[in-house]
Amino acid sequence: MLGTNVGPVEGNVAYLRPETAQGIFVNFRNILASTRAKLPFGVAQVGTSYRNEISPRQWLMRLREFRQMEIEMFIDPREADACPGFEKVENVKIRILSREAQRSNGEPEELTAGEAARIMPKYQAYFMAKELLWYSSLGVPEGAIRFRHMMPNETPHYSKGNFDMEIMYDFGWKEVVGNAYRTDFDLKTHMGSSGKDLTFAEEGGKVLPHVVEPSFGIDRTVYAVLLHCYRDDGRGWEWFAFPPRIAPYLCAVLPLVSKDGIPEKARELYGELRKRFDVLYDQSGSIGRRYARCDEIGIPFCVTCDYETLEDETATIRNRDDCSQVRTGTKDLAATLEKLASGLIPFSAAGDRVA
Ligand code: AMP
Repeated sequence: MLGTNVGPVEGNVAYLRPETAQGIFVNFRNILASTRAKLPFGVAQVGTSYRNEISPRQWLMRLREFRQMEIEMFIDPREADACPGFEKVENVKIRILSREAQRSNGEPEELTAGEAARIMPKYQAYFMAKELLWYSSLGVPEGAIRFRHMMPNETPHYSKGNFDMEIMYDFGWKEVVGNAYRTDFDLKTHMGSSGKDLTFAEEGGKVLPHVVEPSFGIDRTVYAVLLHCYRDDGRGWEWFAFPPRIAPYLCAVLPLVSKDGIPEKARELYGELRKRFDVLYDQSGSIGRRYARCDEIGIPFCVTCDYETLEDETATIRNRDDCSQVRTGTKDLAATLEKLASGLIPFSAAGDRVA
């Protein structure tokens, strides 16, 4: 723990937690009493953690104060291979760097989650598949993600096997999610120190749950998303290819010119769209500069109102990723944008192509 003095005088020492997990174990009995949870169940927490890193470095990578998201999944050790919902991720392919491969400088092996579950608890393989899917939905390519079996000397004393989800950064591979099989270490230790019974009355007797834990570093995640969504492909400006669900705005509404009633029309549309999602309105500067500004912060779609909009209630949508444009009706625009954002329709199906 990171020790510090509280207040202006010395002597009032406090200790800052190195992970969010312990709060979940300390509150385990309260959680049971208030939720009447039955095994298996998970408790998730997001919060700040503190470590007295000797040399903080690499911007968001090694901080003394950082953010974590942790899930403690409490399972009956006798049913460690049950894992409800596993069939949904069974065929997801994950790349695992085995201990042997690390010793011989080898490559990761591609296994399905189903195959991975033969060398680790099924819950752990489940979370690893989910992590891969989640990070790729944030814009980190699957090829830049691997799971490294930690070597015996790196594995925490409480763990029966750790697999670090690592991402390829500009400076090399780095852990972003720690996957630990913590067994009953934490509950057993808390039981021993507090004298409180933390066992579970299950069919066939009392059970002390085992814990499978994925521990996500949020700061490292933000760094990975910025890095892997960054583009500098000769467009004349740099831009971010954020997936729509994490882009700062889903779309921008831009009047082509600042006269002839077009800004009023655009403002009306903006008012409608922002009831549904985050929208930016911008009428300053040339349309090209505004497209560039939107690209720079990763807005996936730009809706432009022009003279035709006044006549027939249509507007253009510009696709950030390839700069192509379609013309579509403004009446269903919110629904069209939502379909585009969730990938239900390809961009070309959103309207008539503008040459
Ligand atoms: P650990 O408990 O060490 O496995 O840490 C869990 C996760 O927290 C790691 O995978 C990192 O993403 C993140 N993390 C750990 N230490 C730091 C740090 N000093 N600065 C930023 N993130 C960290």
